[in-house]
Amino acid sequence: MRYGIISDIHSNLEALRRVLSGLGEKKVDCCLCAGDIVGYGADPAECIRLVRDNCSAAVCGNHDYGIFDDEVLDWFNPEAREAILWTREQLSEDEVEFLKGLEMKKPMDDFMLVHSTALFPKEWKYIVTVDEAADSFEGFDEKICFIGHSHKPMIFTFNEKNSECRFGSEPLTLIVPHLRYIINVGSVGQPRDGDPRAAFAVFDTVKREVEICRVDYDVKSAGEKIIKAGLPEALGVRLGFGS
Ligand code: ZN
Repeated sequence: MRYGIISDIHSNLEALRRVLSGLGEKKVDCCLCAGDIVGYGADPAECIRLVRDNCSAAVCGNHDYGIFDDEVLDWFNPEAREAILWTREQLSEDEVEFLKGLEMKKPMDDFMLVHSTALFPKEWKYIVTVDEAADSFEGFDEKICFIGHSHKPMIFTFNEKNSECRFGSEPLTLIVPHLRYIINVGSVGQPRDGDPRAAFAVFDTVKREVEICRVDYDVKSAGEKIIKAGLPEALGVRLGFGS
C-alpha cells in the first residue's frame, strides 16, 4: 500500500491541485490529510471539496477548528485571525459541518494521523525540538505518527532500546524495527522551511519507507489571489519566500 499524506493546505488551491497530481505521479493508493485545510489562502471551499473527493481520511487542524470555535482564535496572530473570519464568510453550512466532523486523531493500521501532537491534540502544541517530540511519543502506541502544524518537514525517532530521541530531515526515511517515528509531512499551501515548493509525504508500507516530496506550483497566482480577495497582503507575499 502506498499512502499519500498531505497537510496544511490552507486554502491554497494552486498548491493542492499540483500536489494531487504529484500524488498521482507517485502512484499512491490512498490519500490522507493531517489537517488545516483552510485558513490564510483564497480558495477554502474548493480546497474542502478536493480533500473530500480525494482523501479517505482527514483530521482537524487548528485553523479548521477556528471556523466553528471562537476560543481557539485567541491563540492566532492578527493576520491568521482575519483570514479565519474571512473564511467563515466563504463557507456553506455543509462545508462548516464537514470541518466540525473531522476527528482530532485517526489511528490507522500501524500509524497515527494527527495535526499537532498525539498527546493532547487540542492544545495545538508544536513539535520542533527533540524534547517536544519525546513527550509526544507517549501519546500514541503505533509505530509512526504523521503530523503537520509547524509547516516544516521533520522526522523524529525514538529508540526503544535506549529511549534516545533524535531529529532528522532527510527526504527518504527507512522504517526500521527498533525505532518509532514522528514525521512532519510539511505543508502543501504555506511551507515555512525556506523552500516555497509544496510538500507532501508518501509512505510505502511494503518497502517500509517514507519519502518527503516537493513540487513547484504557481506561487504567483496563489499569492495574487490572496491580495485580490482582500486578505492581508503579507499572507500572499510570504508564499514566495516559503516562510
Ligand atoms: Zn497550519
